Amino acid sequence: MPIGETVYLNGAFTRRKDALISPLDRGFLFSHAAYEVTAIYGGKLIDFDGHMSRLSNTLEAISIPNPHDVAGWTDIHTQLISRNQLSEGLVYLEVSAGTYDSRDFAGPEIFTPTIFLFADHRPLINEAAEHGIKAIFLNDIRWRRRDIKTTQLLSQALAYRSAREAGAKTAFMVENGYVTEAASANTWIVTEDDRIITRNLSSDILPGITRGHVIARLRERGLPVEERPFTPDEAYAAKEIFTTSAGAMIAPVIQLEDQPVGDGKPGPVTRLVQRLYYEAIGAEVATAAPWALV
Ligand code: PLP
Repeated sequence: MPIGETVYLNGAFTRRKDALISPLDRGFLFSHAAYEVTAIYGGKLIDFDGHMSRLSNTLEAISIPNPHDVAGWTDIHTQLISRNQLSEGLVYLEVSAGTYDSRDFAGPEIFTPTIFLFADHRPLINEAAEHGIKAIFLNDIRWRRRDIKTTQLLSQALAYRSAREAGAKTAFMVENGYVTEAASANTWIVTEDDRIITRNLSSDILPGITRGHVIARLRERGLPVEERPFTPDEAYAAKEIFTTSAGAMIAPVIQLEDQPVGDGKPGPVTRLVQRLYYEAIGAEVATAAPWALV
């Protein structure tokens, strides 16, 4: 699905083909950049406060001053959504440490950021949400600061390439015998005895905003979530598996490597989580996701 024609770069809305960034930008040279991806549904920003709070944490951790307060970011997002008539999809935001006239590792004392946003039209309540996806296991070879959302994404890009080669849609990454998370989503399992498990927060995983929202919705329903690491064997033995992310919301995983998960179809807990989340974002579940109403 297309990226919108109007993008935002350093204070101005401009046509995509006119948005130029210097190759000396620290985002390009060093991946010295933070990013966020916010879901848009019915033209509205979803879980935006969470994304803005994580952006602020990431920027602080990589020494880039936050160029806007939440009201400023809201205004830019809202204008971008409206200029691109984005009803369902994502807004991608990147703040890099900026461009200077030398390739100096440390850079200046205070950075002047480069700010770039675009709109991405795509269905979020989609085929994968309805039918489920296949995942493979891969070694987690990422750096140690996975709790901040930076553009150091080469290992994830390679993970997606390996997944595609294996006929899968994503990869579950494994470190020291435990699943960390998926290539760009948090991972969840439902055990034989109906416990719902997702990995606890630490610098080993990204604190997913969708993950946090889903935990809150489940707790409201009196369904506790166990936050702890789980092994690939526990995943193989699980009745249900799903992932959470802004980009795919709740994606059932119906096959792990060559094994079906449960009976090979999205299960009732996954459907309940989808229903709760879709209702929370204002979707008309009966029309947008009738299959979630089991
Ligand atoms: N984990 C990783 C590594 C991710 O890249 C993402 C999203 O891109 C997530 C988890 C899910 O986070 P969120 O729900 O905030 O989109």
